[in-house]
Amino acid sequence: MIPDELKRMTPMKGKERLGAHRDSEYLGAEDIDPDVEPVVTIKDLYYGVVTLQRGKEAKDVIAFVEEKVPGINQVRPMIANATNRKILKKLYHKVDAETLCGKRIQLYVDHNVRDPSTGDKTDGIRIRAIIPKAVPQEPVHKCEMCGNALTPAGGMGVTKLAEYTKEKYGRVLCGACAKKEAVRIKHEQEAQQAEQAEQTENTAENATEE
Ligand SMILES: [Zn+2]
Repeated sequence: MIPDELKRMTPMKGKERLGAHRDSEYLGAEDIDPDVEPVVTIKDLYYGVVTLQRGKEAKDVIAFVEEKVPGINQVRPMIANATNRKILKKLYHKVDAETLCGKRIQLYVDHNVRDPSTGDKTDGIRIRAIIPKAVPQEPVHKCEMCGNALTPAGGMGVTKLAEYTKEKYGRVLCGACAKKEAVRIKHEQEAQQAEQAEQTENTAENATEE
C-alpha cells in the first residue's frame, strides 16, 4: 500500500537522483551530478553568519546567476572556503566583488576533503583552476505567460521557439504554455462556431416566422 504522503510527493524519474533535492540553503557536493563539472556565473559575493550542521559561523558566500545548469538541479549559493578563495585568486588575480561578479567558474567534487569536525575524508566542492571556455550560448528567452526561460521544445531550439510562438500567438511562449494557448484558442474557436451556428439557426427560425 502506498502511504498518503507519498501520493502527494513528486516521483523521481530517469536521471533524477537521491540527494539532488535536499533541503539546504547552500550548495553541497551532493548537489553535483557525478562526472559533471558544472559551469556557473558569479552574481554576488556575501559575508555573514551562516547556519551549518556544526553551528553558526561567519563565512564568505558566493551567489550565482543561474538557477539550473547541466550537472546541478538547483543552483544554491556556495560557501567559499580558503581553498576555493585561493583558486579564485589564482584565476582572476583579485578576489574583490568588482573583479569576481560576472565571472564564470567550473565546479567539481573533490572526494579527498578533510571534514573539519571528524578529520575523515569527505566530499567537497572545489573550483577548477581553469577559466571555463566561453560557450556560444543562445540568448535567454523568457516565456511571457509563466516567466520561465524557454527550453527547446517541439524540435525547435529556444530562439526558433521564441520566433515561432511570437508569430503564432503574438507573444513569446515556452513549449508548455504554447500547448495550453493552442488548446485555449481551439476551445474559443469551437465556442464561437457553436454561437454562430446557433445565431444562424435563430435567424432561420425568425425568417420562417415572418
Ligand atoms: Zn511558459
